[in-house]
Amino acid sequence: MPAKLLEGKSVALKIKENIRAEIETLKSKYGFGPKLVSVQVGENSASEIYIKSQEKTARDLGIDYELKKIAADIKQDELIKAIELLNKGKSVNGIIIQMPLPQHIDAKLISRYISPLKDIEAVHPQNMGEIIFGTAKVLPCTAAACMELLNSVPELELYGKEAVVVGHSEIVGKPLALLLLNKFVTTTVCHIATGKRGTLPEFVKKAEILIVAVGKAGLVKGDWIKEGAIVIDVGINRVEGKIVGDVEFDRAAEKASYITPVPGGVGPLTVTILMRNVVEAFKQQA
Ligand code: NAP
Repeated sequence: MPAKLLEGKSVALKIKENIRAEIETLKSKYGFGPKLVSVQVGENSASEIYIKSQEKTARDLGIDYELKKIAADIKQDELIKAIELLNKGKSVNGIIIQMPLPQHIDAKLISRYISPLKDIEAVHPQNMGEIIFGTAKVLPCTAAACMELLNSVPELELYGKEAVVVGHSEIVGKPLALLLLNKFVTTTVCHIATGKRGTLPEFVKKAEILIVAVGKAGLVKGDWIKEGAIVIDVGINRVEGKIVGDVEFDRAAEKASYITPVPGGVGPLTVTILMRNVVEAFKQQA
């Protein structure tokens, strides 16, 4: 396997050191530190894992963490009221609404009700707009995690590179494409229509930087990878009891220069970025 592994854990460790130091400074300046409130509507096994990881990381870094559990049958306007209450809460610095929400609740509408100052996942349209301007203080966690992984590649000059992002979701693909553009990376975004047209291999084969965030195991064949490419696989898929990404890892690793393992690549960084966003939100509010 000639490719070097891009492991999220080691990058996360460095960011955590900075977060710890910053929280200590903030606590000694203000007499208290940041607080994160996570809102869980109903039960969901996928979000349970993420919630546990949030709580553990927050406590480990010295961030106050509260899980607010809400019944699955809550009416949409009642949920909005609960969020507005958190917006007003003086001790609450960051709010995260766990996804997925029950079917009767419009997740996009809900994201508009989180105060942009407390929106630590950058899901509010105002915070998304700041990404276009290049002025965002908090970034969508997974997209930012991908950028941190790229930044960790020694001597990688992003300026002028050619990247392909596969997947155009609002939380990963679209913001990531903007973050790359802000760094003058020539960026192509592929999506479901690219897949249907059958041209996905053509685009992937040209990518010096390839980032795949779809959620389909083995979607990107190892043979499509450009020699020496940097490959970031965001996908998380459970296949025969194992977690795998969207890229055929073994063959891709023979061709890439750097590649993220799944698990162990993007995942460990995402929650760390969330905590960095809580600290940033605290500073904005202070
Ligand atoms: P999502 O909202 O379902 O988006 C998937 C995207 O892939 C959509 O834009 C979809 O297009 C596109 N797509 C579907 N089939 C395609 C195909 N054949 N060719 C090209 N594009 C295709 O998912 P997400 O939230 O962005 O997450 C993507 C993956 O990343 C999932 O496996 C998720 O579990 C994982 N993830 C990991 C982390 C982490 O921390 N490691 C964080 C977040 C997500 P359409 O919408 O047009 O159908």
